[in-house]
Amino acid sequence: MDTTMDLYNFISQQDKEVFGALEGEEKREREGLELIPSENYVSKAVREAQGSILTNKYAEGYPTKRYYGGQTYTDEVETLAIERAKKLFGAKFANVQPHSGANANIAMYFACLEPGDTVLGMDLSHGGHLTHGHPVTYITKFFNFVRYKMKDTSTGEIDYDEMREVARKEKPKIILAGFSAYSRELDYAKFVSIAKEVGAYSVIDVAHIAGLIAGGAVKNPFDFGFDVMTSTTHKTLRGPRGGLILTRESEELAKKIDKAVFPGFQGGPLMHVIAAKAVAFGEALHPSFKTYAAQILKNAKAMEAVFKNAGVRMLGGGTSNHLILADVFGSLGVSGKEAEEVLDRVGITLNKNAIADDSRKPMDPSGIRFGTPAITTREFKEGESKRVAELMLDALKNRADQTKLDAIHQEIKQLCAQFPIPDSFVQ
Ligand SMILES: *Cc1c(COP(=O)(O)O)cnc(C)c1O
Repeated sequence: MDTTMDLYNFISQQDKEVFGALEGEEKREREGLELIPSENYVSKAVREAQGSILTNKYAEGYPTKRYYGGQTYTDEVETLAIERAKKLFGAKFANVQPHSGANANIAMYFACLEPGDTVLGMDLSHGGHLTHGHPVTYITKFFNFVRYKMKDTSTGEIDYDEMREVARKEKPKIILAGFSAYSRELDYAKFVSIAKEVGAYSVIDVAHIAGLIAGGAVKNPFDFGFDVMTSTTHKTLRGPRGGLILTRESEELAKKIDKAVFPGFQGGPLMHVIAAKAVAFGEALHPSFKTYAAQILKNAKAMEAVFKNAGVRMLGGGTSNHLILADVFGSLGVSGKEAEEVLDRVGITLNKNAIADDSRKPMDPSGIRFGTPAITTREFKEGESKRVAELMLDALKNRADQTKLDAIHQEIKQLCAQFPIPDSFVQ
């Protein structure tokens, strides 16, 4: 048996049904390639912390200011997580309690805004996230969301002139940067200068790129004067599923954020998850994380080269981060949904994605989105990443040829066997 497999001693005895699902998922993760750019594999240390007895403890409040007794160790753990997060991102204040990225954003909005105030954020079809004011989310009942877009989808450049114009006209209280389907670096200085001009907070949601920032592979928005960063901890940052809010400088704003998280929106913090965040932040402070973050970018570039050579249109013309958004319908005549299904059959997991100004429907859009955080954790280098991109195109072009697809699936399985998911990242 694979030594990296979990034993699940107690669950396997007590609850065959849940155990069966866990075993199945373990096999799925082991034998398939994960290209969803928001997913990753955490270390066993992170999972030990997340599976720890801290789940037993109520710790409403913040370190040294709790509503219940018995907080010696919860305070220790949360303080470690806070101090490590501050160090990683160069922030004066950190709130590590948001249960998820969505919660972090909701708390941030209520800390910075009054009901009815306006937020200027990235157009959702140009890469912005659901929590940045999609009409299906309830946050839009409280605040008014207006948009900026890319000026040119072949370079990914944002239309900063339009952004300034809209900002002057709409007087937003937040200028929100950040994305979940955008592959270029933003001009942070421009965001901050426009926010300053109209008296708005400059906020960036780094959910996708937090690990790249922490590892020094891309620029740190705080170096350009952003007021606040919201994030998840489970994407490139490679921690447990959760949220995080960092405040660069303002104590007044940090206090508002703390209040908004608890008691504003959440009850008791998930102390076991906070312990796992502390462990993950410790890993991200380790020198090996810099190498990891840099390799994520190199691997994405290797995949980009294959798509470029094959003449496949990529939004933004390619990538400067960990992800690629490819117009497979426009370039290969295969819809995003079909591409997702074909690749799933050969052991590659990624997601269909709408592209800017997509002519197709959201449930069957023109694009696919994929990225390199998880395969880089598996220690793929440029050679393997390039091969994966070639196999993807091969599968899409030969999607009617079952023999061909079987051969591709075999090769993917071999790659996975050759590169097992590591237990630990710090030596
Ligand atoms: C993933 C993501 C979120 C939401 O995080 P959840 O933990 O799923 O709630 C928010 N913003 C951006 C930009 C994201 O990519």
